[in-house]
Amino acid sequence: MAAGFTSSRTRTEETLRESEQRFRALASHAPVGIFMTNPQGDCVFVNACWCELAGMSPEQATGTGWTRALHPDDRERVATEWYSAAQFGRRFSSDYRFQRPDGRVAWLQGRAVELRSEAGALLGHLGTVSDVTEPKLAETALRDSEQRFRALADNIASHAWTCDRFGVVTWYNRRWYEYTGTTFEEMQGRDWKTLHHPDHIERLTPKVQHCLEYGEPWEETFPLLGKDGQYRWFLSRSVPIRDGQGNVTQWFGTNTDITDRLEMEETLRSADRKKDEFLATLAHELRNPLAPLRNGLEILKLAPHDHAASSRVQHMMERQLNQMVRLIDDLLDVSRISRGAIQLDRRRVDLADVLRDATETSLPLIQELGHELRLHSNAPAMLVDADATRLAQVFSNLLNNAAKYTAPKGHIELFVAREAGQAVIRVKDNGVGISREMLPRIFDMFTRVDKPSERSPGGLGIGLSIVRRLVEMHGGTVQAHSAGAGCGSELVVRLPLAEAATSPVTFDESSSAPASSARGRRFLVVDDNVDSAETLALWLELIHGDVRTAGDGLEALEVAEAFRPHVVLLDIGMPRVDGYEACVQVPEHESRPWVTRAANEA
Ligand code: ADP
Repeated sequence: MAAGFTSSRTRTEETLRESEQRFRALASHAPVGIFMTNPQGDCVFVNACWCELAGMSPEQATGTGWTRALHPDDRERVATEWYSAAQFGRRFSSDYRFQRPDGRVAWLQGRAVELRSEAGALLGHLGTVSDVTEPKLAETALRDSEQRFRALADNIASHAWTCDRFGVVTWYNRRWYEYTGTTFEEMQGRDWKTLHHPDHIERLTPKVQHCLEYGEPWEETFPLLGKDGQYRWFLSRSVPIRDGQGNVTQWFGTNTDITDRLEMEETLRSADRKKDEFLATLAHELRNPLAPLRNGLEILKLAPHDHAASSRVQHMMERQLNQMVRLIDDLLDVSRISRGAIQLDRRRVDLADVLRDATETSLPLIQELGHELRLHSNAPAMLVDADATRLAQVFSNLLNNAAKYTAPKGHIELFVAREAGQAVIRVKDNGVGISREMLPRIFDMFTRVDKPSERSPGGLGIGLSIVRRLVEMHGGTVQAHSAGAGCGSELVVRLPLAEAATSPVTFDESSSAPASSARGRRFLVVDDNVDSAETLALWLELIHGDVRTAGDGLEALEVAEAFRPHVVLLDIGMPRVDGYEACVQVPEHESRPWVTRAANEA
C-alpha cells in the first residue's frame, strides 16, 4: 500500500516536473515576455524574452523588483493598476513602457490572468508582455503628422478642403469656416457648389465633372460668398489622391483669395491706360501750338515790314508759346512731384499779394474767353508761411480751370475769408460742372474730361494733382464741390494762417528780385544749347545789358574770371563742369554775383 502510494506520488511528481520543464522550455523560447506571480502579485518568474525587454535578470525582477523596469512616467500608474487587479482578482490589461538601463524604451502591451488550483484556490497570476513599439511609433508618427497637417492647414492663408471621389466635400480647414461663417455641421454632405456665385456655376460644372471623371488636376478662379455677404475672388487648385492601384480615393484642394491681386492688376492696367492716353494727349497738346508758331514765322518772313500784321502775329505767337511753356512746366512739376523733389521756399507772405499774382497770370485767358471775374473779400490782411510762387501757381491753376471749363462769357468768383484760424479761398464758376462720378477722381494724376470747347486751351489732366500736392505741402487741403454736370464748380483751398505759427518766419530782404532794368549790368549766359543761350543774350542786349555767353561750366568760369558778371544765368546739365559745380566756383568780385538756375532745370 505504502509502496503503491509512493509510486503513484512519484509518478505525479514526475508528471508535474515534466509539465514544469515543458512550460519552462516553452517560456524560454516564447517570442513574448512571460511572467508569473504569487497570489499577492509579486513576481516569481520571468522568461528570457521578458528579461530582454526589461534589461533585467530574473533575480532583479523577483518580488516588486520588476516595477523598476517600468518607464518612470508609467511606473506609478502601472504598479497601482497591477496590484489592485491582483488584489481584487481582476484581469489585467494595460499599455506601458519599459526603460532598460541602457536607455532603450519599448512600448508594451501587458495582459495577465489568475491561476487557480482545481479546488479554486488562487495560486498566482500568469501574464504576457508583447513588444508593440513599432506599431505604437507608427501610430504616434501618424498622429503627429496629422496634427502637423491640421496646424498647417488651419493656419495657411488659403482655404483648404478635401472631397471624396464624387466631389462631396469631406473636410474644410479653419480659414474656410472663418471666411464663410459656416459650421462643420452645416457643411456636412453639401457639394462643391455651396457658396459659389450662381453666375459661375454653369461655367464651372463641366470642368468639375471632367476633372472628377478623368482624375485631372483642377485649377480655376471664381467668386465665393463670405460671411459679410460679399463675394471675393479665389484661385482654386486641387489634386487627386490615389490608392495603391492608382484609383482616385479623394481630392485635396486649396482656394486662395486673389481679390486684392485682381484689383491691383486692374489699377495697374488702368494706370497704364491713363498713361497711354496721357501720352497721346501730350503729343497732341504740344503739337497744337507749333502750327500757329510756324505760320507766324512764315508771315514774319514774308511781310517783315507790315507792322500791323507782325504785331498781331507776335501776340499770337507769344500766347501759343506761353501755352507750351505752361504745359511743359506742369510736366516738369509732375516729374518732380513723383520724385518728391519739390522744395518749398517758404516765407511769410500776404495772401492778397499771392492772389494778385495768380489773377494777373490767369487774366489773359479769362479775358480771352470773355468771363467776368469778381473778387469777394471781407477778411483783413492774412499772412501765410508759404512759397509765394508755388501758391500763386495753385490759384492761377484753379482760375485757369474755372476759365477753361466755363462757356465763354461766364462768371468766375474768388472768395477769400478767414474761418477757424484758416485762410479759406474759394474759386467758383458757373461752368460745365463736375459729375458725381468724376468728383472723387479729379485730383488724380492724368484725370481729364474732354475740353468743353475747342476755343479753350487744352490740359494734360495733371494740374489738379499738382495743386493738391502743393496745397498739402503747405499744410492745407483742397476740395472740389459741384452739384453736377452743367451746375458750375467750386474749388476750396484751406491754408493755415501764419499768426498761429509758433516760430515766425523772417523776411529775407536779399531775396527781392533784381532791378528790372538791365542797363549797365554785366550778364553771363551759360547754356550748352547754343540757340537758347544766344536768344537770351540777344534779349538781354535789347534791354541794355552787357552780355557774354559760355557753352559749359568750365568756359563759364574762364569768362567770369575776366568779365566779372553781376548776374550769371546758368543751365544745370552741361558737359565738363555742370551748373551746380560752376555755381559754387563762380568768382566773387565786390560781392557774389546773382546766380540763377535756368528754366530747363529738370
Ligand atoms: P486739365 O489739364 O485737364 O485741366 P486738371 O488736373 O487741372 O487737368 O483737371 C482735371 C479735370 O478736372 C479736368 O479735365 C476737368 O474735367 C475737371 N475740372 C477741373 N476744374 C474744373 C472746373 N472748374 N469745372 C469743371 N471741371 C473741372
